[in-house]
Amino acid sequence: DSIRQKVDDAVLCVPDFPKPGILFRDIMPIFKQPKLVSNICSAVASHLRESFPHGITAIAGLEARGFLFGPQIAILLDCIFVPIRKLGKLPGATIKASYVKEYGVDTVEIQQGILSPNDTVVIVDDLIATGGTMRAAMEVIEATQAKVIECFVLIELEALEGVKVLPEHCNFVTLLKH
Ligand code: IMP
Repeated sequence: DSIRQKVDDAVLCVPDFPKPGILFRDIMPIFKQPKLVSNICSAVASHLRESFPHGITAIAGLEARGFLFGPQIAILLDCIFVPIRKLGKLPGATIKASYVKEYGVDTVEIQQGILSPNDTVVIVDDLIATGGTMRAAMEVIEATQAKVIECFVLIELEALEGVKVLPEHCNFVTLLKH
């Protein structure tokens, strides 16, 4: 709970970014407090260890800010880190999923063969807004037959109801609600 409060205090709310009318949550100030970063990652790792005593085989992080926390949590849990990237960044064969954004379509992808049906995966990102990104992330992971056992974010923008676009079976967890 003190971590929750410290994260809330560190996150900056920036009006009219990147467009007028949008209140952007800037999570980067968290990294001005290295101890807080390490406490967040330890707390998430403990929560995952307790929730899934049979183990997690992979943390999947969403580009870009899921890459700030995901690998650190994976190291603590001694499991692999799988990057979910924007279209065109990964070499070799990939699995793709697209989602509609306010202007146009975005696509995320993972490398083929990086996960197998035996994998139990937690998807990590900084924030959920409309939920499109997280839903596409679930799609690419589940296309490998791996099991997504949790989707974890630091911040949920509750008013946007992003959780509603996630599949029914999704186990969604957020540190903070805004
Ligand atoms: P969604 O697909 O609308 O849920 O948007 C979530 C994605 O956009 C995440 O990968 C976030 O990193 C990014 N995002 C959206 N709004 C914000 C914000 O206010 N602060 C930081 N990232 C955001």
